[in-house]
Amino acid sequence: MIITLFGPPGAGKGTQGARLSGALGIPHLSTGDMLRHVISSGSSLGKQVAALIDEGNFVPDDMIRDVLSTRLDAQDCMRGAILDGFPRTVPQIAMLDEILSTRGSTLDAAILLSVPDEILLDRIAIRAASGETARPDDRPEIAAARLETYRVKTAPLLDIYRREGRLHEVDGTGSPDEVFRRILFLHKLAPAGV
Ligand code: AMP
Repeated sequence: MIITLFGPPGAGKGTQGARLSGALGIPHLSTGDMLRHVISSGSSLGKQVAALIDEGNFVPDDMIRDVLSTRLDAQDCMRGAILDGFPRTVPQIAMLDEILSTRGSTLDAAILLSVPDEILLDRIAIRAASGETARPDDRPEIAAARLETYRVKTAPLLDIYRREGRLHEVDGTGSPDEVFRRILFLHKLAPAGV
């Protein structure tokens, strides 16, 4: 099963991706986390990636395709994965379809977590203030740039998925428990006992 989670920065993709992963027993693959891992390697590629991410820009489509397709070939993805952060641009729609079709798979669900901008910026500010989860791109001026990049590059992709009837919108406000229940209800994914 392949599920992809959409939402602007701060919408809760990471939190909900981890929960869905636990409920369904398939890995949560965050392209942002993968890129942060490349950065932490300190390689020259990592430095290029950091320069883009730290300004609120996206990395090139080809790079992210290679990172994701390699990861999907790992043994733990045999039963599927929860994608978080991919696709994120219009060309990445076709990339995902191709990556999946060459592996005999298709996209089962595309879920959009909808959250108003004021709440997003508050959530990012809270994360920026927390030592444990703070990220360089959570600074207020960069958070605003990330929202703008999302509007310019990702919103058109969502329009396409919506027109194709592939997008399921979920209210992403409220507690993580509330949002998770909405996702499970929407997709009737609930395993016994959840
Ligand atoms: P995230 O953790 O999902 O907010 O991602 C952090 C940053 O990684 C984003 O602001 C982008 O710069 C980059 N990134 C993550 N996924 C993608 C993608 N699919 N395409 C391009 N850039 C990405």
